[in-house]
Amino acid sequence: MILDELLNKDKLSKEEIIFLLNLNGRKDKEKFFARADELRLADCGDGIEIRGIVKFSNYCNQNCLYCSYREDNYKLARYRMSPDEIIHTAQTISNLGIGKIILQSGEDHFFDTDIIAYIIFQIKQLTKVNLTLSLGERRFDEYRTWKIAGADRYILKHKTANPNHYAEYHAGGKLADRISQLRFLKTIGYQIGSGNIVGLPLQTIEDIADDILLFDELKTDVITIGQFIPSLNTPYQKKTSGDPELLQKTIAAARLVMKNTHISISAEPDSLDEVYGGTGLYSGADVIMPDLTPPDQNENHRFFRRGKKIDEGTIEKTVRIQKSIAALGRKIV
Ligand code: SF4
Repeated sequence: MILDELLNKDKLSKEEIIFLLNLNGRKDKEKFFARADELRLADCGDGIEIRGIVKFSNYCNQNCLYCSYREDNYKLARYRMSPDEIIHTAQTISNLGIGKIILQSGEDHFFDTDIIAYIIFQIKQLTKVNLTLSLGERRFDEYRTWKIAGADRYILKHKTANPNHYAEYHAGGKLADRISQLRFLKTIGYQIGSGNIVGLPLQTIEDIADDILLFDELKTDVITIGQFIPSLNTPYQKKTSGDPELLQKTIAAARLVMKNTHISISAEPDSLDEVYGGTGLYSGADVIMPDLTPPDQNENHRFFRRGKKIDEGTIEKTVRIQKSIAALGRKIV
C-alpha cells in the first residue's frame, strides 16, 4: 500500500487500518502521526478540552478481569461520596472554568435512580456545566429519568469489539447488549461516548482495527482510547502493560477514520509533555479527562504519580493541568 495515498483517503478499510497500526519505519510513523495531528487541527481546532471526572464511588457489582474495582477485589478499600459532596465538587470544578464534568462510578446500585436524578438536577441548577454520566450498564428507565433530570452525555466503553474476548473479560457478558444500550442512549437524546483499551490480554491488531470501525459505526461524540495497565489484585495483575506506541498509533488511526469526533487520552497526566500524554495530544487526541475527585475520600483514592501517593486537591490539580496545557503552547477549550 502507498502510505501517502492512505493518509489522504476519506474512508479506510479494515486492512488499511491494520496496515497503519503495523507501520514500523520511523519516517512512516512520523508522517502518520503528523497527518493525524493535521486532521485534529482542521476538524477540532487547536485547543485541548478538559473534561473533569468525579469518581464518586468505587463500589461495583461486576467482575471485569482487568479492573481493580471488580467486586471480588476484597483488598480494595471502598468509598462512596455523599450526594452533597458530589454536588459541591462539581461546583468547585465549574468555578475553575471547566465546562464539562463526568460523574463516574462502578456499577453501584446504592446510587439508585432517584439519588442520581437528584445529583444531576442540583448540579444543573447550580452550574452551567455539560454533564456526562459514566455509571456502567443501568436500566433503560434509569437512563430516561436521568436524561429528563438534565444529563447530557453517557459514556459506556465497549472495551473490545471482539465478542469472544468481551465475554472472557466480562464474566460471560455480551458485547451485543452493550451496543444496544449505546444505541438506546442515543435514541433518547444522549450524546454517547465509547472507548477501548489498547494492550488487553488476548487482543490482536485486527481487534483494534475492529474497535476503530465500531466507534465509526456508532458515531460517538467522544472516544476514549486507554492503555492497559495491570491492576493489583486482579486476575490480570501479572500481565504486560499495553505498548505506548501502539496506543499512539490507535489514536492516530482513530483520528483518520473519525475525523471530527473528540478523542480523549485517558492518561492521568503528570505533565502533559510526557511521552504518553504529549504524543497522544500530537497524534490526533484533543481531549483529556483528568480525575478531579477530592483526594480525601480514603487512603486508597490518592492520586499516583511516579509511584508516589499524592494528596492533591481538585483545585491544585486543575490549575496544574491548565498550566501544563499552556506549557505545550495549546489553548484550553
Ligand atoms: S470495568 Fe466498570 S463494570 Fe467492570 S469492574 Fe470495573 S468499574 Fe465495574
